[in-house]
Amino acid sequence: MSDKRTEIGEIGEFGLIDHLNESIIIKNSSTVFGIGDDAAVIDSGDHVKVVTTDLLLEGVHFDLSYAPLPHLGFKAVAVNVSDVAAMNAIPKQITVSIALSNRFSVEAVEALYSGINAAAEHYGVDVIGGDTTASRSGLVISITAIGEAKKGQLSFRSGAKVNDIVCVTGDLGGALVGLQILEREKQVYLANPEMTPELDGFQYVTGRQLRPEARMDIIHEMREMEVVPTSMIDVSDGLASELFHICKASGVGVTIYEDKLPIDKQTFDTAVELNLDPITCVLNGGEDYELLLTIDQKDFSKLEKHPDIHFIGHVTKAEDGKLMVTKSGTVVSLKAQGWKHF
Ligand code: ADP
Ligand code: MG
Repeated sequence: MSDKRTEIGEIGEFGLIDHLNESIIIKNSSTVFGIGDDAAVIDSGDHVKVVTTDLLLEGVHFDLSYAPLPHLGFKAVAVNVSDVAAMNAIPKQITVSIALSNRFSVEAVEALYSGINAAAEHYGVDVIGGDTTASRSGLVISITAIGEAKKGQLSFRSGAKVNDIVCVTGDLGGALVGLQILEREKQVYLANPEMTPELDGFQYVTGRQLRPEARMDIIHEMREMEVVPTSMIDVSDGLASELFHICKASGVGVTIYEDKLPIDKQTFDTAVELNLDPITCVLNGGEDYELLLTIDQKDFSKLEKHPDIHFIGHVTKAEDGKLMVTKSGTVVSLKAQGWKHF
């Protein structure tokens, strides 16, 4: 180690991961794919396993003054299942590790686990282990999910080809807008504890933030229709950031159309009420846990009528750049602001 000091913010979270990856050497032939996708891939004989892990910290990823513990437990599982889904695999097992301060009672941990168990039931996964330890600074939850797929069935970030169609599921921006509402009402409450939070009319957006769904329904439907996306990633950091990941890994460019971007009416109206640009929320809001995928044109007719899959653009050559055609027809460069914790 030299005396040189580089701030993490200088290279960013993704730059740091790339940098660490340079020093890692894969030794086992069963490690099919390591760092760099939504999950790692391990050869398991006639099929492959995928493994992904996520860490949630109180004060960074959630605030217990508005996140109910059962919802938090559900979300901690869902965000991992979402990464398994993004590989086009089916989740099977999870491990659950928690660090607790003495602020937490047995009943509080039971409440957290009611959500974890509800999600395990919902996604058909078994809780097979974990770790429990003391914490000095709030609650920490780390979940690892293991999934399965047949060989050849996986979708990587790196498989997008020129002329593929870019699709996104559900609607975007809701989780960010929901977070802003929860923060606003928290400030109102802190200023005057007599006031009850005004959350009527914001259920959809707050629900998107507090209890997101992983889109396993879409994975099962595509399997029935025999569609394997050429590339896929889940939308955890924001659509623009995820498009950048796919473009970088696949060595391609992309053009999307603003008027095709899916936004829920409550998300739109609430964004306007909060003086936020709805399209910025769609492009850069995080934590929607929808799927961003590219499909070969031959598969378009199979998904064309799906009510929850939206066709937002197409894959281009890398030198064409990452572009958005606005509603007025102007072409702008996409910027991947995403969610930055550093
Ligand atoms: P996602 O948002 O899909 O969870 P991340 O951006 O967190 O993905 O991670 C991208 C890739 O980097 C994944 O392959 C992940 O396993 C890997 N990764 C993240 N942090 C580390 C780390 N500290 N050491 C090694 N690999 C890491
Ligand atoms: Mg992911």
